[in-house]
Amino acid sequence: MAETKKKIFLLSLGCAKNLVDSENILGILSSHGYPIAEDIDDADIGIINTCGFLQSAVKEAINAILEMIDIKKRGGLAKVIVTGCLVQRYGYKLKRGMPEVDGWIGTGELDKIAALVESTDTNAPFFIGRPEFIADHELPRVQTTPFYSAYIKIAEGCFHRCTYCTIPALRGPLRSRPLESIVLEAKAMRDRGVKEINLIAQDTTVYGVDLGIDNGLERLLEELIPIQGIEWIRVLYSHPNEIRDLFLQLMDREEKIAPYLDLPLQHASKRILKAMAREIKGETPYELIERVRSYKRGLSIRTTMMVGFPGETDEAFQELYDFVKKVEFDHLGTFIYSPEPGTHAARLKGIPDKKVSKKRRDSIMSLQARISLKKNRGMINKTIPVLIEGFSKETELLLSGRSIRMAPDVDTQVLINSGEGMIGEIQDVLITEAHSYDLVGEIV
Ligand code: SF4
Repeated sequence: MAETKKKIFLLSLGCAKNLVDSENILGILSSHGYPIAEDIDDADIGIINTCGFLQSAVKEAINAILEMIDIKKRGGLAKVIVTGCLVQRYGYKLKRGMPEVDGWIGTGELDKIAALVESTDTNAPFFIGRPEFIADHELPRVQTTPFYSAYIKIAEGCFHRCTYCTIPALRGPLRSRPLESIVLEAKAMRDRGVKEINLIAQDTTVYGVDLGIDNGLERLLEELIPIQGIEWIRVLYSHPNEIRDLFLQLMDREEKIAPYLDLPLQHASKRILKAMAREIKGETPYELIERVRSYKRGLSIRTTMMVGFPGETDEAFQELYDFVKKVEFDHLGTFIYSPEPGTHAARLKGIPDKKVSKKRRDSIMSLQARISLKKNRGMINKTIPVLIEGFSKETELLLSGRSIRMAPDVDTQVLINSGEGMIGEIQDVLITEAHSYDLVGEIV
């Protein structure tokens, strides 16, 4: 009689790239016959796919592991397995510190997960190595995002060396997936009802460089556009140094490509950008934005800014503040610099006082709230296509959705207070109200 397979629960922490790894882990285990539990109370084996690139993420991961160990001690789980960036970053130190964990996998060893789950070795097997692995369309995957929207990781790793970043050490060198593999995955997604594809990597704009493909991202988009049934294609995680006119022209010309540039600039002061090793070659941040905004379709720009970097004086911060005020981004997030052991920036002196950094972050975000409200007011009485996502998190009296200028999980939403909405459908919505971040409207 076949042995009943243990039920698996997976907690996925961190970014969308890590979520894709989690979906592959679930895919591999499902293909080995392991049922997936939606709730940890129904599971026999608990897996945490961790993030570890910032101290705050490290803390969150360790707390999650300790919680799962606690459930195991109370007999609620037979095994606890930890995977991902935290494992890659701290390696065997973790094993010594948490002997209750039954197995460990680094970022480059995902394909070892079934062997680890099946292992009877009580000495907590540890799979870690130089990250060289990249999943392709043949690796099984369980989509955990809503049926109509999915992420495709087009490359892994990074060859940039931003001085504050641990990711190259955690994820290894840039390695792009073969173009055909991405196209096949997109078609498979379309076949199961996906309408929106979000392309992700550490830096999508250098896709294909390691494979010797010139303008690889544009070539890939040209291959994805003709796929019938895929309505929206969004490119996330671009790099300010790699914004080619060819890419902008494609975004301007092709309706299917979201007119949405995810452009993490991090700062506007030349001196700070230099210290971050994120200087933009051949143009200033203002000139780059001007170039992006010169296209008639009107491209939306999302950015992230970092305050509190070593050497950030009042003048340097004022430069950033004035830049955000003048540019008026469509979406903006601001983070306080976190000195990460092992990075070049962690050795730099002159970190502003934490209180000062918090004040700077808050002043940028309250400025952005005013900018966003002004922009949203400009949308009133306009009718826009909205991807209906379901009931709003706040109340079942409202539906919520996103326009093509809003990315999943990070941006704002359109709240819908009248009309019949079909989840996963793109329907026209007349905007009737504007808030700092969200829009309100009715289906027409
Ligand atoms: S581009 Fe810079 S910030 Fe982004 S992953 Fe690479 S090194 Fe890190």
